Amino acid sequence: MSILETTNLKESLSHPIFKTISEVVTNERVFVIGGFVRDLFLNRPSKDIDIVIEGSGIELAERVAKKVNATKVSVFKNFGTAMIKLHDGYEIEFVGARKESYSRDSRNPIVEDGTIEDDQKRRDFKINALAISLSPNSYGELIDPFNGIQDLKDKLIRTPLDPDITFSDDPLRMMRAIRFAAQLGFSVHFTSIAAIKKNKDRINIISQERITDELNKIILSKKPSVGFKLLFNTQLLHIIFPEMTNLYGVEERNGKAHKDNFYHTLEVLDNIAPNTNNLWLRWSAILHDIAKPPTKRFDKRAGWTFHSHEVVGSKMVRPIFKRFKLPLDGQMKYVRKMVFLHLRPIALTNPQTNDSAYRRLMFEAGEDIDDLLTLCRADITSKNEHKVKKYLERFKKVEKRIAEIEENDRIRNWQPPISGDIIMKTFGLKPCYEVGKIKNDIKEAILDGNIQNDYDEAFQYMLKLGKELKLEAVS
Ligand code: ATP
Repeated sequence: MSILETTNLKESLSHPIFKTISEVVTNERVFVIGGFVRDLFLNRPSKDIDIVIEGSGIELAERVAKKVNATKVSVFKNFGTAMIKLHDGYEIEFVGARKESYSRDSRNPIVEDGTIEDDQKRRDFKINALAISLSPNSYGELIDPFNGIQDLKDKLIRTPLDPDITFSDDPLRMMRAIRFAAQLGFSVHFTSIAAIKKNKDRINIISQERITDELNKIILSKKPSVGFKLLFNTQLLHIIFPEMTNLYGVEERNGKAHKDNFYHTLEVLDNIAPNTNNLWLRWSAILHDIAKPPTKRFDKRAGWTFHSHEVVGSKMVRPIFKRFKLPLDGQMKYVRKMVFLHLRPIALTNPQTNDSAYRRLMFEAGEDIDDLLTLCRADITSKNEHKVKKYLERFKKVEKRIAEIEENDRIRNWQPPISGDIIMKTFGLKPCYEVGKIKNDIKEAILDGNIQNDYDEAFQYMLKLGKELKLEAVS
């Protein structure tokens, strides 16, 4: 990655808002700072702009709003900040420069007014402490007291001040360091790594929502294993996600070893990343083998087994989502279904499999069948490349067959043609066991291919089933 030259920053601040801000200040020093400046140098377009002024951020926001005819300034008096949303989607946040100090039991600092230099010192990383002046007499000048530009070139994350104090003051920064490393493909400096290891237990003072937010950003990065390996090596993962670190390790007995399920899970996650930006499908990759540790057994003949890990794993999804404060409705159910079904497509590679097994899986997966196939394809990992190739080829046949059956039978999002209502009306029944049985038997007969997926044929079959149950048709 080549970074932007620091010579002509005036031109690089291409959005007109920067000139506007410059025009409304007089003697105050004002800067664009933080993530926007970092991303400007990295050529990563960003619509979040942070402005710092040695003075009142709220007043500045009001002056700017007047000038650009912004309809609304959102003021957060408690934080001394104000925000303007522009029509083109840009969000500009204004704040006065601050000086901070921390007490031991909170990540909320004691704040007082300060200079730009004070403000840069309270930033988490050197690459996040860059500022560009917007004051008329020094417009476009870079203020980089910690040589953050060099860290951008070296692809390094490190704290401007003593990392031990920086991470202890606000332990969320440990997650942020790893998140930026994952998102940007940077390394975390070894002194910062050491300080994270030392301060890892302080993560417990951070709210779960904020931890989860950072974790989700790691999961959505291009190669999520980078972030997870850092979380593992610093042992933060052991605290925030013990079910996942339980996957780590290989056991050998009688010369038989199983694979390391932690690294396998990371491989699956990296494999799936280029094929989906769906956070929940990526979570499914993380959780697909989560119950391997509690279901692990050694069998003298078969070696290591993990029977029913998909069933036990699917039951672990809700408590894990609850702890992470992830949504417990549709998304959780989707991940639970993925974990539950993740072995099924692979089982279809058996040449003896008949269409009925295909139809059943397509019925159970419903509209998520494609995602399930994406997960299963990513799950094919082995050190032996030849094996991976062979399995992928077999798997391709499964995908082809699914597409053919879908074309013929339209099983996806399918509802059997005979409803409970029709059964009740036909035989004059109230809701009862027989209604459920007939409905289910019709569904099974269609999935087995014994009758066509067609109303008339299903209706005739319903009458036959009714007769067997000694029911009389009344309409
Ligand atoms: P992203 O938008 O990807 O989250 P960002 O760097 O813009 O990246 P924000 O959370 O918006 O992240 O924060 C803006 C800036 O505020 C950061 O660049 C950094 O300078 C500073 N900052 C944010 N959180 C912290 C923190 N916990 N400790 C110190 N400085 C922080």
